[in-house]
Order: sequence, then structure tokens, then C-alpha cells
Amino acid sequence: MKSDNLQKLYFDQLDQIHSAETQIREALPKMIEAATEMELKVALQNHLEETHVHAARLDQILLEAKGMVDPKHCKGMAALITEGKDVIHDATDESVRDAGIIAAAQKIEHYEMAAYGTLRTFAEILGTSQHAGLLDQTLEEEKHADAILTNIADTANDKAHKPA
Ligand code: FE
Ligand code: ZN
Repeated sequence: MKSDNLQKLYFDQLDQIHSAETQIREALPKMIEAATEMELKVALQNHLEETHVHAARLDQILLEAKGMVDPKHCKGMAALITEGKDVIHDATDESVRDAGIIAAAQKIEHYEMAAYGTLRTFAEILGTSQHAGLLDQTLEEEKHADAILTNIADTANDKAHKPA
């Protein structure tokens, strides 16, 4: 899609984050399975449920704003998910693996926060305040998920740190 105006760019970025949410939905179950600490498993499981809601909001916005969803493969999210898989694969210690999963998950959250912050602003500029509100709700949930992971990291990083 050629983006010669802000609305087209907005649609393009919506399609892209839609693809990112789909990729996250597929990746999170593997991260949950690989995690050891129950607190981390629960946090990721809760965020998986939120991710379904995020995708549904995007479906709604895309259908209302342009009448269709045509997912545009999100390369940025694909790379972050690959990093997460590598970290799970490379860790030979459970606590270190948990710390790595948190690191990978927080990179994903920050990517989403950047994307939704931009999309909310685009929606406001384009005069679709109801959609801006939905995008802001998702942004807040991504921030919340990130903050929970920061909390868990407090303990997880200590556990992973075993001075020789
Ligand atoms: Fe999300
Ligand atoms: Zn997220």
C-alpha cells in the first residue's frame, strides 16, 4: 500500500500491529510453557487473554474505519519473537531462562507501547476520537503488563544471579 497521506499511513500501521498481536498470540503459549515461576506464568497467561481483546479492538477499528482487515506482516514483532525463542533455547538454567523470558516479553511490550502511542495520536489527529480511546485503552494495558513484568523481574533477576 502506498502511503501518501496520514490516513493511509494510519491504516497501514493498524494492519501491521494487527499482525503483531496475532504473532504474540501464537508466541505467548510457548513462553508460558517455558517459564518456571508460577507468578511469571500467570502474568503471561493474563496478558495472553488481554492480547485477544487487543486483536478484537483492532478488528473493530479496522472494520469501522476502512471496512476490512488485511494484515500486513509485522517484521519488527517477528524479530522480537525470534529473539525470545533464542533466549528460551539458549538458557540451560531455569532461573536464567525466566529472566530471559521477562527480558524478551518486555521488549515486546515496549514495541507495542510505541505502536499504540503513535496510533492513538494518529486517530486523534484524524478526528476519530472513539478509536483513539480504544487505542489508548490498549496502550494502558500494555504499560500495565510491562510494569507487572518489571515487578517480577525484581525477584527473578536475583534468583538468576548466582555468583560463583
Ligand atoms: Fe497487545
Ligand atoms: Zn502486549
